[in-house]
Amino acid sequence: MSEKTNAFKIAQFQIDRAAKILKLDPTTHSFLREAIREIHLSLTLKMDDGSVKVFRGFRVQYNNARGPFKGGIRFHPAETIDTIRALAAWMTWKCALLDLPLGGAKGGVICDPHQMSERELERLSRAYIQALWQFIGPETDIPAPDVYTNAQTMAWMMDEYSKIKGYPCPAVITGKPLELGGSLLRDEATARGAIYTIREAAKHLKMNLKKATVAVQGYGNAGSFGAILSQKVLGAKVVAVSDSKGGIYRKEGLDPRAVLRHKRKNNSVINFPGAKNISNEKILELDVDVLMPAALENVIHKGNAGRIKARIIAEAANGPTTPEADDILHRKGLFVIPDFLCNAGGVTVSYFEWVQNRTGEYWSKKEVDRKLETRIVKAFKQVLNVSLKQKVDMRVAAYIVALSRVAKAMKLRDWI
Ligand code: NAD
Repeated sequence: MSEKTNAFKIAQFQIDRAAKILKLDPTTHSFLREAIREIHLSLTLKMDDGSVKVFRGFRVQYNNARGPFKGGIRFHPAETIDTIRALAAWMTWKCALLDLPLGGAKGGVICDPHQMSERELERLSRAYIQALWQFIGPETDIPAPDVYTNAQTMAWMMDEYSKIKGYPCPAVITGKPLELGGSLLRDEATARGAIYTIREAAKHLKMNLKKATVAVQGYGNAGSFGAILSQKVLGAKVVAVSDSKGGIYRKEGLDPRAVLRHKRKNNSVINFPGAKNISNEKILELDVDVLMPAALENVIHKGNAGRIKARIIAEAANGPTTPEADDILHRKGLFVIPDFLCNAGGVTVSYFEWVQNRTGEYWSKKEVDRKLETRIVKAFKQVLNVSLKQKVDMRVAAYIVALSRVAKAMKLRDWI
């Protein structure tokens, strides 16, 4: 991976830029540029055919000045320690921005879940916890799902941790199935948060979302709910969506739920009846009002940023835009809702799940939604205010808010 698209170099570049504006002292700045702790794991796994394979895994615990570490676990063949470092840093800023009493972390295993059986995935999930259990816990580090892990993965992991401890520990992991202490609305929380930020951005830009068109890249948890809620909550028309195999476009609009059923049946959104197949690159450059990247990092780069036309870019994915692309989008006057604001709905409801597990009191869907909306709208307004006052883009403004909160917590603890 080149330095320019190395996610952690990008994360550090973003920290440096905000630190300069904030005039952070060199000690605080250098502390915030690196993770507090990194754990590297070698996991051996008996495969279904009797062979034994070695898988590399990680957990990066970035900063816990504001509370226990919190962050998802990815299972992905192209996982790298630098991507996990970047994601752990972004989790730290995300929790601070939403004013959650949590720090940031991230984990991952280099593996291809599409080439593994259900049983192998279960054994891998359990092996990850067997190797990591001493470093996580409801008061120390609370994992959650991310790319190619889901509620079932969390159920196996929570069960393994509970077995080791000898009693049920639902609060060790969030994103669990409802039957095991999951929170209502957690499944659509990331997208729902993104939708509220799009609504606020549209208000600011005086854009009528009822007439807006939307394109979504990625059709997993964040992307599929992003498309469904764009239609249901915003009243917008979803004209294009994609997944790792390619994209589809229909000028008159797609039925996002029908596309989801098609994907479940055919393993991809492509070849959806009545829609035209398009490439994953093309979906980003469509003439739409709202573009929602909801797949992986660095998909908007200096090579294509100039061709992006969407008025609002809602970063449901983590790190979809490189710094060079950021500057191009900003110069073009496009409104970017930065990742750790746009996709913060997931960790916010994860936090609610953790609170519910620890108090034993469970909230209704309506209550969770109300609490989520309140928090995310407040964070959006704070970032927009800083952006307008300090004449910086929304990403830099989000960094200014988040970094100053983490720095303040470190100062109060006398760490620096
Ligand atoms: P997921 O595994 O549910 O879905 C990932 C989707 O991306 C799949 O549809 C896959 O086909 C697609 N994809 C993979 N490679 C692609 C490519 N090259 N081009 C287009 N599509 C591609 O993952 P998710 O949980 O929806 O996460 C998506 C993004 O959202 C990630 O950046 C993740 O970090 C971020 N995110 C997720 C959550 C959450 O709660 N799930 C929270 C915050 C941020």
